[in-house]
Amino acid sequence: MQHIYNFSAGPAMLPKEVMEQAQSEFLNWNGTGCSVMEVSHRGKEFIQLAHESVQDVRDILNLSDQYDVLFLHGGARAQFATIPMNLLGKNKKASYVITGLWGKMAFEEAERYGDIEIAASTEAGGFTTIPHKSEWNISKDIAYLHYTDNETINGIEFPNVPNVTKAPLIADLSSNMFSRTIDVSKFGLIYASAQKNIGPAGLTLVIIRKDLLNYEPMPLTPSIFQYRLQQPQESMLNTPATFPWYMASLVFKWIKKQGGLEVMEKLNRHKAEKLYKLIDINNFYTNSVDHRYRSRMNIVFRTPSKELDEKFVKESEKAGLMGLKGHRYLGGLRASIYNAMPEAGIDALIAFMKEFARTHG
Ligand SMILES: *Cc1c(COP(=O)(O)O)cnc(C)c1O
Repeated sequence: MQHIYNFSAGPAMLPKEVMEQAQSEFLNWNGTGCSVMEVSHRGKEFIQLAHESVQDVRDILNLSDQYDVLFLHGGARAQFATIPMNLLGKNKKASYVITGLWGKMAFEEAERYGDIEIAASTEAGGFTTIPHKSEWNISKDIAYLHYTDNETINGIEFPNVPNVTKAPLIADLSSNMFSRTIDVSKFGLIYASAQKNIGPAGLTLVIIRKDLLNYEPMPLTPSIFQYRLQQPQESMLNTPATFPWYMASLVFKWIKKQGGLEVMEKLNRHKAEKLYKLIDINNFYTNSVDHRYRSRMNIVFRTPSKELDEKFVKESEKAGLMGLKGHRYLGGLRASIYNAMPEAGIDALIAFMKEFARTHG
C-alpha cells in the first residue's frame, strides 16, 4: 500500500503509535478478554481509565483545582447551545467575538437563547484578521464573552489568549486544543470537539471553572447537557462515548510521552512556518490571512484558479496526500496539520506543491 498523509480538517489523522496500540489491544483490553467498547462504563477498569484520562488532562494543562474536566456528547455544536443554556443566567446577555465561520455559527446558535451582542466581527473583510482588543465592544452586564481561538475553516488563530476581566471568557478550541501551551486560568470555560486533535468524533472535552457550575440553567435544558449535573457524575450521567474516550486517553498519554505541550508547540510552529514559507516565496500560491494571525493548524491557500485548485486536489490524492480540498464554504485548498501530522508529511506536501507549481505555473 502507498504511504498516505491525511490532511483532513476533521475527523483528522491520529498518531500512528496510538492507532497501533488500539489495534493491538482491540480484542483484549487491559486483560479483560473483551474490547474496551464491550465493557461497562461503570466497571472498575473503565472508571480507572476515566480517572486517569482526567488526571492526564490536568497534568498536560497544569490545571488548578478550580477547574473540572468533563467528557460530554454532541461535539462543539452541542456546546454552541449548551453554553448559553447553562450560563446566560437571569440577564440573558452575552457577547461574541466573530473572526470566522465557526464563531459566527456559535453566535447564531446562542442568539436563540438570549440577547447576544457582537463584540467584534471581521466578516465584512472576509475573515482575514483579528480586531485588536481595544476595538472590542463589551457591555458591562454580560454573562460571558465567547471567541474561537482557531478558526478551522478560515485559517485564523489568536496568537495569545486575550485578557478579558469584565466577564468569564469562553473559547472554542476544537481545532487547536493541546497544540501549544495555554494558561487555562484566563478562562471560565473552554471546549473542544475531539475529532481534530484529541481522538475520534463523538466526544467533547469541556473544562469548566467550578464557580460556573453554580449557575442556574434555563428550565428546558436537557439533563445530559447540564454541566452541574454532569460534573458530580464524572461525565457519566448517561453512557459516555466510551470508545472515543478510550482513544482520547491514549492520545493524552502520547502527548505526555512526546514531552507535553512545550514540545507540541515547538513542532507545530516549525511545521506551519515551513509550509507558509513555501506559499510566500512561491508566486503560484496565495494565502490572504493577516500574517500575525495565520493558523498553525489549518493552512488555507489557493492556486491561481479554481480549475487548478481542483486539479491540485486530484493530483495530490494520487500522490498519497489526502484531504487537501478547502471547506465547502470557502473553496480553495487547506492543509490541516494537527499534532499527529509528522514533519515528513509536511515535507511530502511541500515537494508536491513545488512540483505542481513548476508544471502548472
Ligand atoms: C470542527 C469544529 C466545530 C464543530 O465540531 P462538531 O464536533 O462537528 O460539532 C466547531 N468549532 C470549531 C472551531 C471546529 O473546528
